[in-house]
Amino acid sequence: MPQQTYRGRFAPTPNGPLHFGSLVTALGSFIDARSRGGEWLVRIEDLDPPRIMAGAADSILRTLDSFGLYWDGEVLFQSQRHSIYQERLDQLDHMQLIYPCGCSRKEIQKQALGTATGPVYPGTCRNGLAEGREARALRVRVSDAGVRFTDRLQGDIEEWLPEQVGDFVLRRADGLFAYQLATVVDDAIQGITDIVRGVDLLDSTGRQIYLQQSLGFMTPRYMHLPLAANAAGEKLSKQTRAPAVTTERAAALLVDALRFLGQPVPLDLETGAVEEVLDWATQHWDPDSIPRTRLISVL
Ligand code: GLU
Repeated sequence: MPQQTYRGRFAPTPNGPLHFGSLVTALGSFIDARSRGGEWLVRIEDLDPPRIMAGAADSILRTLDSFGLYWDGEVLFQSQRHSIYQERLDQLDHMQLIYPCGCSRKEIQKQALGTATGPVYPGTCRNGLAEGREARALRVRVSDAGVRFTDRLQGDIEEWLPEQVGDFVLRRADGLFAYQLATVVDDAIQGITDIVRGVDLLDSTGRQIYLQQSLGFMTPRYMHLPLAANAAGEKLSKQTRAPAVTTERAAALLVDALRFLGQPVPLDLETGAVEEVLDWATQHWDPDSIPRTRLISVL
């Protein structure tokens, strides 16, 4: 069988400017794609208006550009693709995999069966809404089979969705499509073969593979990278007030990000240009050198 052309992607939520942690993810996915002669796409995951910061999408794209992380094709914005997600929700509905749920967040917290990766939905509305209850969210029924995959960095992973997650939400009570659905649909439509992203999303992968299988999509290869943490051991993020990367120091920051990913960048590249750093990284990229830890402190 002919090898499929590698196609990777970077899919930021535009809730703030790029910080060192998101630069690491962007760079890791970019270099992994380029070192394999692959394409690299950018998708803006702006589905959730309350989480979005005005101007952040533009700022992220400009920053990628100044770091020499040039993407292929058009940037895709999830906010413009509601009808596409609805079609796939309808497909699952025809398969009788979807049901309305009337539980509030509070009720779920109270009845949850466990907290493997958050509260596990106990299936309260699985067999129909109780009398007087109104539908709030739409959930997908998970099957009783385990989901198994091999992450290129984190190794063999097995998830048992009924025990670890439960039936999960695909359309939220506020009418918005859930991240799990939108990401799976877009990765499939964009023909993504390789997903390289932060290890905080490892817990979502089982759900995403389950949706891929239910919708008849291919499952891409996965590589979940370590996360950058601050001195307090917290993941760099908007919530932990991670500072934005400064584009004046683009080449030096790329070197820092490559070293974070375990790549032995030569000293003389520290004063090199962005293109030189990226060329070196593309030629010498060694995923086996990436630390297999979850959090690495950088500040
Ligand atoms: N939009 C997600 C984030 O910024 C990433 C989604 C993904 O890579 O699957 O955390």
